[in-house]
Amino acid sequence: MQTDHSARLFAAAKKVIPGGVNSPVRACKSVGCDPLFVRKAKGAVITDVDGNDFIDFVGSWGPMILGHGHPAVVEAVRSTALDGTSFGAPTPLEVELAELVCDSVPSLEKIRFVNSGTEATMSAIRLARGFTGRNMVIKFDGCYHGHADSFLVKAGSGVITLGIPGSPGVPEDIVKNTLSIPYNDVAALEATLRDPNLSIACVIVEPVAGNMGVILPEEGFLLRLRELTRELGIILIFDEVITGFRLALGGAQERFGIMPDLTCLGKIIGGGLPVGAYGGRQDIMDTVAPEGPVYQAGTLSGNPLAMAAGLALVRELRKPGFYEALEEKSAWFAAGLQRIADNASFPITLNRIGSMMTCFFAPGPVRDFESAMRADTAMYGRHYRQMLAGGVWLAPSQFEAAFVSAAHDRSQLEQALAMTESSFKKLADR
Ligand SMILES: *Cc1c(COP(=O)(O)O)cnc(C)c1O
Repeated sequence: MQTDHSARLFAAAKKVIPGGVNSPVRACKSVGCDPLFVRKAKGAVITDVDGNDFIDFVGSWGPMILGHGHPAVVEAVRSTALDGTSFGAPTPLEVELAELVCDSVPSLEKIRFVNSGTEATMSAIRLARGFTGRNMVIKFDGCYHGHADSFLVKAGSGVITLGIPGSPGVPEDIVKNTLSIPYNDVAALEATLRDPNLSIACVIVEPVAGNMGVILPEEGFLLRLRELTRELGIILIFDEVITGFRLALGGAQERFGIMPDLTCLGKIIGGGLPVGAYGGRQDIMDTVAPEGPVYQAGTLSGNPLAMAAGLALVRELRKPGFYEALEEKSAWFAAGLQRIADNASFPITLNRIGSMMTCFFAPGPVRDFESAMRADTAMYGRHYRQMLAGGVWLAPSQFEAAFVSAAHDRSQLEQALAMTESSFKKLADR
């Protein structure tokens, strides 16, 4: 594989951008190679600057559920841009997208658009604190909620991959108001939420964890979480930045039939442009300025290009049969992976729900941060490099999801399975 252009760009990038990247995991450090620079992508295929093609299972870390460069999304962005790219004033597009998203996601009565998932979660906990008058935020080990100060406590992939516990620059005073407890541990949850010494504003959770690799909520976990938070007057926030419009039109909350008080969205709803959103119960959302006192603002929030892309994409997802077809394709692919895993001479645990999945190089069950940490990351690194050399683009970290999109066709998935099988054989031969 030729990588001269990427190598040259990486060298140049490192001189002007920290680590040569604008988001740490992209640097590919944990998988032991340098990043490839992307020239373009179409459908399920991503092409680097040296002209190498790869079957893409990263999907820009989630947004590309239709594949890259979907004609409806591209046309929406193009035609919207002709009329201007930002006004700092309301536009019809944001009303349309707000209506469509509220109609799609069961618990949403009102929604506020922001520019990233990080901004959505950061704003949601400020709102929960403002609404309840309490300070403490409960999160779960290995769940990632963006890079705001309050969340950088046992914070999932990016931080795990770099092997740092939290982050310098985050004051103790802020982190002391965040408590992180094990995922899927109902006893720890109950004990923490009932602790009379904690003044808990909210619990924030990835209803399916995607940032320590894919980990499903066990039977009863989300239900008990809902019951306890309701009983104790604690705001329940579902961080559906990955799962929203991924697991169903209405996200994990539709899939599991559990209504949070607030929901954070991002990734898919921007169709690949920078968007986030938070929303939920009207009485809580009406605490946000200018309706209420909790301040939150954004110069580019509701940006017309982003709204147009989101609208075009969500309209595609609402076409009958979309999620059924995606599920069928993903299940077929996962069954193939499972067969390969079963024949491997080392332990592989495949966790999947819908079109998101992770092959852990670890014995099962992988059900929380601790069990995910048992994964052999050096082996994943070798697998990653072998897959890349074979034309398959995986996430450059063991602790991420692989995403199947509507654009992946049967032959591309077959090719990826064949490559996986051959990569596993090579790993066993070492
Ligand atoms: C990606 C992600 C975020 C952060 O979103 P950004 O747009 O990267 O700021 C928050 N929560 C979850 C669950 C995510 O996967």
